[in-house]
This record gives sequence, C-alpha cells and structure tokens, in this order.
Amino acid sequence: MTRTVLVLGGTGEARRLAEELRPGLRVISSLAGRVREPKLPVGEVRVGGFGGVEGLAAWLADNHIDAVVDATHPFAATMTASAAEATTRLGLPFLVLRRPGWAEEPGDRWHWVDSIQEAANVVQPLGDRVFLTTGRRDLHAFAELDKFFLVRSVDAPDHQPSRTHVVLDRGPFTVDGEIDLLREHKIDVIVTKDSGSPMTAAKLVAARHLGLPVVVLRRPPLPEGVAEVATVAEAREWLMRDNGEE
Ligand code: NAP
Repeated sequence: MTRTVLVLGGTGEARRLAEELRPGLRVISSLAGRVREPKLPVGEVRVGGFGGVEGLAAWLADNHIDAVVDATHPFAATMTASAAEATTRLGLPFLVLRRPGWAEEPGDRWHWVDSIQEAANVVQPLGDRVFLTTGRRDLHAFAELDKFFLVRSVDAPDHQPSRTHVVLDRGPFTVDGEIDLLREHKIDVIVTKDSGSPMTAAKLVAARHLGLPVVVLRRPPLPEGVAEVATVAEAREWLMRDNGEE
C-alpha cells in the first residue's frame, strides 16, 4: 500500500523533498498561500491554512496521512507548533526538516537579537540607511524609525515606512550583485533573519567585504521533543525507515 506523507512547505528543501520522495511515497505538499506566484513543488499540492491545530488534525485524518514532515521556513513557528500538536494527538510520525543556521566568520560584525522589535532598537544607532531583508510582513516594527529603508521582498509590502525603496526579488543572489546593491543605496546596516538559506547568504559575504554591521534575528525554538534533521537526504531516510519502505 502506498504511504501518504504531508510535506509542509514554502522552502526549497520542501520542493526538493517532494521530488526525491516520489515515486516511493504519495506526497502532498502544503503551501500557506502567502506568495502570489509561488514556486510549486512537483506532485500534489494544497494551498491555504488548515484552521489551527483542530483543522490540521481533522485534515490529516480525513486525508489518511501516515507521516508529516515540516519543511517550512525556520521562522514559521506557528505552523510548526500546530503540526507538532496535531501529530501528537493522532500519534503520527512527525519530523522537522530545518537547514542549519548561519555562522559568524572572522570579520563579521553581527548583532544577534530575539525579536523584530529588538532588531528595530538595535539598528537605531548603527546607521541611517538600512537594508531590510526580514520579509514584507515585519516592516511595521521599523515604522517609527526616521531612516531610509531598502526593502527586498518577493511580493510588494502593503505598508512600509515613509522613506522606503522596495526591490521585488526572490533570489538566489550573488555576492557581486549584493555588493553593487549595498553600494548603490549607500547602506550602513543590514537586518536579516537567520534563515540559513544558501539562496540569500550572499548579502552576509557582501557585508563582511564592506565591513557593514548585520542585525541577525535568532530563530524561534522548536517545540520540545520533536525529531529534527538538517538535510533533505536525512528526511528521506527517516521517512523510508519509519514507513517500512526500505
Ligand atoms: P506561520 O506564522 O508559522 O503560520 C501562520 C499560519 O499560516 C499557520 O498557522 C497556518 O494557518 C498557515 N501556514 C503556514 N505555513 C503553512 C503551510 N506550509 N501550509 C498550510 N498552511 C500554512 O508561517 P509564516 O511565517 O506566515 O510562513 C508562511 C509560509 O511561508 C510557510 O509555508 C513558510 O515556509 C513560508 N516562508 C516563511 C518565511 C518567514 O520568514 N516566516 C520565509 C519564507 C517562506 P492555519 O493555522 O490556518 O493552519
């Protein structure tokens, strides 16, 4: 009998996992539906929230899901918490696939913070021209700061601080391209989430090269006791082992 896996997605890892699991398993990928034109994984895809823990638990049961892999972005903490809770209730195997975070290197001037509000406080004395790469939904935290913001996001923000220039782009980015962008806008400081993504790491190399400070938002913690792997290969192995396919 084909086993069915729900992959909670919205990341490159989720797309790769969906690809690598077929044809051994039936994979349903789930997207939140935030991005207007998302990069779609191969195979079956569903889009939109489940309706909290209750909604997800019902959906998992109705769709006869055998295991759940949460391959959402490391900052999608609400989804991860719901998935941990719903799978515990139903006694389903649950795995979090989370790529490693970024690590500081010699020459870096990083300021670690725990919240977007703290990022706004810490950025205050670090410069007047700020490159914000934390996503369009976190801009409200910077609204009170009298600074120039360069904002890069996949879709245009609904609201933005008054002196803002928006660049719509989803990467991957190159170090040379990032250096050019930082120079063009005379950026003093960068704000980023510790996404750990290789697609967006070039800005950190560019900042090192130009000697710029970077405010780095620490990842939210995972729910206690959940199984976690760092790579698509490990997630595949876990699924095959837990689902008796190999
Ligand atoms: P979140 O705050 O953890 O989730 C908020 C709600 O959105 C969840 O409670 C759930 O709604 C719904 N949701 C989130 N991910 C979902 C998924 N993969 N499938 C179905 N519903 C989902 O998440 P977020 O930070 O808004 O991220 C939303 C999506 O964007 C995720 O898929 C994530 O991988 C991707 N993403 C996020 C970031 C980021 O910086 N946060 C960056 C890049 C990509 P219900 O409670 O109704 O089920």
